[in-house]
Amino acid sequence: MASAFSHAFVALALGKIASHRAITWPVVLTGAVCSIVPDLDVIGFAFGLQYGDLWGHRGMTHSLFFAGLLSAVLVALGYRHESSTTKAGIGLYLFLCTASHGILDALTDGGLGIAFFSPFDPTRYFFPFRPVAVSPIGIGSFFSTDALRILASEIQWIWLPATVAWLTVHGVTRLRSSWLSTD
Ligand SMILES: [Zn+2]
Repeated sequence: MASAFSHAFVALALGKIASHRAITWPVVLTGAVCSIVPDLDVIGFAFGLQYGDLWGHRGMTHSLFFAGLLSAVLVALGYRHESSTTKAGIGLYLFLCTASHGILDALTDGGLGIAFFSPFDPTRYFFPFRPVAVSPIGIGSFFSTDALRILASEIQWIWLPATVAWLTVHGVTRLRSSWLSTD
């Protein structure tokens, strides 16, 4: 896993990048929770599930199918009275927040790969480029081991690129609107 802080930061950056009226702060908070939810699969260890099982760590809950299911359920439960455009926007945002979790994990240098295509294909995948130092499972262990090295790696490879993307989109949007207003 990357740390929960980094997953949530990416959800926040995605919300700011989307910069759409449907993506309100409560939606961004929901997105931040969605970005952390996949790691609830570590509960399976307590019930004897193995890391590489379908429902094991980085398995089913890290898949694109799960991201689609979770976002569809949340939209159906929480936003069913919204217009279909708003529902589609929120659903896409929550999907991207949840799916971003597996993408960040696939950039880490430890553990098993990510079952992006479960339950259809349980193969575990990593990206060829894996610069992010893997974070230990559980907040307690995160603070007790190698925390500074992991944090530095996440700031360099997750927080900085996410902030640059956010500022770039923000800058382009502002430039476009100032051009349009001077036309
Ligand atoms: Zn994970």
